[in-house]
Amino acid sequence: MNNHPTRRENTMSRLMVSVSGVRGEIGRTLTPEIAAQFGSAFGTMLGAGATVVVGRDSRPSGPMIRSAVISGLLACGVRAIDLGLVTTPGAALMTGELKADGGVVITASHNPLPWNGIKFLRPTGLGLSVEAAARLKQIWESRDYAYVDPARCGTETTNDSTHATHVGKVLSIVDVKAIARRRFKVVLDSVNGAGGVGTAMLLKKLGCELIPMNAEPTGLFAHTPEPTEANLTDLCAEVARCGAAVGFAQDPDADRLALVDEHGTYIGEEYTLALCAAYVLGGRTGSAAANLSTSRMIDDIAARHGGTVFRTPVGEANVAGRMLEEGCIIGGEGNGGIIDPRVVPVRDSMAGMALVLAYLTATGRTLGELVGDIPRYAMIKAKFPCPADAAPKVAAAARKQYAGRKGAAFNDSDGLRIDLPSGWVHVRASNTEPIMRIIAEAPARDAAEALVEEVRQIAEPFVKG
Ligand code: MG
Repeated sequence: MNNHPTRRENTMSRLMVSVSGVRGEIGRTLTPEIAAQFGSAFGTMLGAGATVVVGRDSRPSGPMIRSAVISGLLACGVRAIDLGLVTTPGAALMTGELKADGGVVITASHNPLPWNGIKFLRPTGLGLSVEAAARLKQIWESRDYAYVDPARCGTETTNDSTHATHVGKVLSIVDVKAIARRRFKVVLDSVNGAGGVGTAMLLKKLGCELIPMNAEPTGLFAHTPEPTEANLTDLCAEVARCGAAVGFAQDPDADRLALVDEHGTYIGEEYTLALCAAYVLGGRTGSAAANLSTSRMIDDIAARHGGTVFRTPVGEANVAGRMLEEGCIIGGEGNGGIIDPRVVPVRDSMAGMALVLAYLTATGRTLGELVGDIPRYAMIKAKFPCPADAAPKVAAAARKQYAGRKGAAFNDSDGLRIDLPSGWVHVRASNTEPIMRIIAEAPARDAAEALVEEVRQIAEPFVKG
């Protein structure tokens, strides 16, 4: 044993408890004890007699964490329905379908294999509100659990209909026959996550000639699981080699979708939402929602079709919540997270794939051609150390500096986003680390870099020392 862990190990092994749930390294910070405690806390929050669905991604630690969470739930008199190995959108969908009082997904999303996590869902399938997440954390910290007397312990049942139910819902939003006539050749990289089984079912029903990669849900990820360009070189090569119309990449819990065009070119996760929005807003009248850090492409697309885009604080539940409030017909995040509320009000790679194939079918054009139709921007992401109390001062100073700029518009619902005719910049404090993130976008790379640099200089006096 190393008695002197490095600084990096200390950071890496922290148990992260946030509004999105709990994440930690298995056997180090995320243990069966911790998982049972959070099961007990969630059971206490919902109360005896509540029903909770529980799903897990394909990680080898999934059954261990699942059993511990369910143990805590049962101790509080909760009825647990084990969905088995399912995607995050699948678990969210079943929370609603089975009229459960809440849901739990055992997943660490795109984190590597040593990690796992516990995500808690509301009855609609959305992640917890900030208030509910704070209450859950407070119950966990107090260890004040409402255990029931032995005769009233909860019951556990299983339900294996998630994939079929999910596929049925996704098929209901597109013209299946029209897509099937195209006989699209599709390469699907599921990175040995939870997406492979249900997505293969979906693509076959859509008449696709499917070339699966890393389809077995072993949790032994064939490559670094985040669906970024650097991690998808094999998928790009396979799409080019077999002349496929499109390559789809999922993250391990299948809520994010990255696309590869017919030339084998990775086209970037920001385009997933832009393309889906172009299809949906082109065919139906309605509005869209996206978080403040998402590309301006969706605004350009909405403007073409006379639609509105609502911008929300970063966080999937914020986007989904706003979509439900405003009745948006499409929304999501620039990380490949597509939300079509007709399927489920959370990010769903399977809904995203169906919309992309429907767009190709409706236009008769290739993915590369459709990407070429969308205005191209350069996005720069940067961060700098910043104590939490300095963050509001940085935002206020930036607002002051840009206030006189022609056409400047401000959104301060999460840090500060400044929209200018020539681009935008969003600066916000991290929830988990003492840093500020700056994201800027402009038609040219040097203009985006200049925006980042300008905000960095405004911040400098506040973060010194
Ligand atoms: Mg994910």
